[in-house]
Amino acid sequence: MGFLKRMLGKESLDDRVKRLWKTAKKLGWSDAEREKAIAMYTELLSLVDETSQSFNVCAVFRNRAISYRGLKNYDAALEDLARELEIAQRRGDRLRVMECQKIMEETREWKRKAEIEASGGEKAEKFRAMEQQAHRLWGTEPDADAAFQSLFADLQNNDPDVRAEASQLLADSRNALQRLISIYQECLNSDPRRASLAGRVLGRKIAKGSDDMIPLEIAKIWYGITVSFIPCTCLHCGHINRGIPVPPKGPMIPYYHQEHDKGAYAVPVLCDKCGKDFFVVWDIDPR
Ligand SMILES: [Zn+2]
Repeated sequence: MGFLKRMLGKESLDDRVKRLWKTAKKLGWSDAEREKAIAMYTELLSLVDETSQSFNVCAVFRNRAISYRGLKNYDAALEDLARELEIAQRRGDRLRVMECQKIMEETREWKRKAEIEASGGEKAEKFRAMEQQAHRLWGTEPDADAAFQSLFADLQNNDPDVRAEASQLLADSRNALQRLISIYQECLNSDPRRASLAGRVLGRKIAKGSDDMIPLEIAKIWYGITVSFIPCTCLHCGHINRGIPVPPKGPMIPYYHQEHDKGAYAVPVLCDKCGKDFFVVWDIDPR
């Protein structure tokens, strides 16, 4: 009898877990539905843990984090993502670790942006103006072109937050991505610095959350062009600059940073952090 009761109890627990998961996942994007989903995920987390065979607790942390993030509760979201990351790392779940790092970085960016917007002042004003330009990117010519030029110019703004935001807004627009791909290809030989500024937006989009190099094959799937992306530390401040667009064999041949472009091949880089220029250089041509 005791055994049967335990079996029944276990069965209904499994059913409850399944039902909560299914229902929570179906909830929409309004604040009220997000709140409801968070309550369900929280209950789920009281029913399952890391040892659950039939259920991946990481998925619950991830979904609750996304719901928190939608409600602009960035700290709670980051806490859940950190739990997910820790478990995924321990399990050696490489794909989940990569995804999670990417979402964490994106969430930190959203948090930073929300803080800037809430602080008011000149920078908040600039962010609002950039947001308007980003809307115009979806419009008709010549409006969209003017918006693109304005955001492209902001990639060289003195403020690192403005540069990062311009890159993000351009990367989120399919229209802008097409223009950036064209600029990268057309300016590669005639104006390497302009090509690099454009290519960096493409590279940052893929490299988010990871310091790894991005091989030709992946870049080709994303953008349909022949390019690889590498990380390189800044010559001036030591910051790791990710997503630097380089020739296909760039990641396979040793490279270093220096002040000038003397070498077999060089790519100019504007540092994401300090805003100074440096060059990634190869002694053997990576093209
Ligand atoms: Zn720097």
